[in-house]
Amino acid sequence: MDEEITLLEVQHLHKDYGNGAVLEDISLNLKKGEVLVLIGPSGCGKSTFLRCINGLEPIQSGEILLDGVSITDGTARWSEVRQKIGMVFQSYELFPHMTVMDNILLGPMKVQKRNRKEAEADACQLLERVGLLDKKDAYPRQLSGGQKQRVAIVRALIMKPEIMLFDEVTAALDPEMVREVLDVMMELAGSGSTMMIVTHEMQFARAAADRVIFLDGGEIVETGTPDAFFDSPKTDRAQRFLNTFTFEKK
Ligand code: ADP
Ligand code: MG
Repeated sequence: MDEEITLLEVQHLHKDYGNGAVLEDISLNLKKGEVLVLIGPSGCGKSTFLRCINGLEPIQSGEILLDGVSITDGTARWSEVRQKIGMVFQSYELFPHMTVMDNILLGPMKVQKRNRKEAEADACQLLERVGLLDKKDAYPRQLSGGQKQRVAIVRALIMKPEIMLFDEVTAALDPEMVREVLDVMMELAGSGSTMMIVTHEMQFARAAADRVIFLDGGEIVETGTPDAFFDSPKTDRAQRFLNTFTFEKK
């Protein structure tokens, strides 16, 4: 990780859907090459937080800066911001009538106006990287859930984002397909990608994260290295949360 470059800064973010605060005074930084894993109980505001960063939710106060420039002061061009911040969701939402390749090329050709040949070469490289080059002409219905989710990751990566956000991308997958998607994310994490990951896969979280952030009740309760957080959480709230998971002893 390059300690010098801060890509994303969140300062005193407050988010409210109109019936009480969902996120309260969230501040954090994400450095280039850093892998930050957000964990916390259901409903604590993890998805809301990622959606605020990607401009899918307005915020009530605070500020978010990308490359040192505010994206929440009302002047941001979200189509540009979203090219810098890729996001992968629980549901992959590929277009069913388009092949894998055409699904992947939609963003680079329509939004970034890239040349098809060049983008296609890029897509092939990325498909190879996630082990799906042989599926480039398949339709989504011909793929398993794990394969579709890997295509969704390629669809985000081909935009060459500075930061990748992952919101419980394995939560809807059958257990036997979780591993293949986590392996792709692990490979990205190991090759210098800047990532913010929401997950309930605790072993993966521990292996992938440079830093773990524990959210509860809309606030950051604890931040630490994965070893410190998982071996000796500082707060009762984190301890109680971790106790709800069973860890396989290696
Ligand atoms: P998590 O991803 O940690 O499970 P969410 O960010 O989805 O949590 O939700 C945080 C809180 O905000 C929950 O209480 C949820 O009910 C509420 N919430 C989420 N989305 C909306 C919305 N569009 N309108 C109103 N309330 C919402
Ligand atoms: Mg969520």
